[in-house]
Amino acid sequence: MNEAYRYCPVCSTPLAPVTLLEDGGPKERLRCPACTWTHWNNPTPVLAGVVEYQGQILLARNAAWEGKMYALITGFMEAGETPQDGIAREILEETNLQAREIHLIGVYDFQRMNQVIIAYHARCEGEVKLSLELVDYRLFTPDKVKCWPAGTGYALADWLRSRGHEPQFIEWARPSPDPSAPPESRIA
Ligand SMILES: [Zn+2]
Repeated sequence: MNEAYRYCPVCSTPLAPVTLLEDGGPKERLRCPACTWTHWNNPTPVLAGVVEYQGQILLARNAAWEGKMYALITGFMEAGETPQDGIAREILEETNLQAREIHLIGVYDFQRMNQVIIAYHARCEGEVKLSLELVDYRLFTPDKVKCWPAGTGYALADWLRSRGHEPQFIEWARPSPDPSAPPESRIA
């Protein structure tokens, strides 16, 4: 992620690894040697929705993904909205469904992408119309849906357990930080 920041956004000086004393002790970070602006590289909040629709779980397939991977509805939280408003917005934008009841499932790390996932269960109504980002969706009954070994998959598993279903996981190849890795490894 550091490669994306080469210059200070405040004074345009090239950034460099600079060690400064922080609350936890001396710490090297990408900083501006001129004005000490610091690239904190904090994780980005991502919202995820276990969409319950007509008693089933809606999983969708992103146009950018190869293979047959179906996953939760996700999107970046935006400035000026609550996480609940954000997941309702994402569900509406991506599926055209209205979220009627939204409950927090949990918060999950996704360190490979430097993200933190805030996952909700949303009971939804309306008529499904996918955004251009999504190519397909499938509805699964809770006893048939398969989870995946990554942040949003663990969220789905936790929600299933809360409803008395023992989650089943699909097998994935070992996750790789390589950007040429299969897209499945980049799914939250
Ligand atoms: Zn600067």
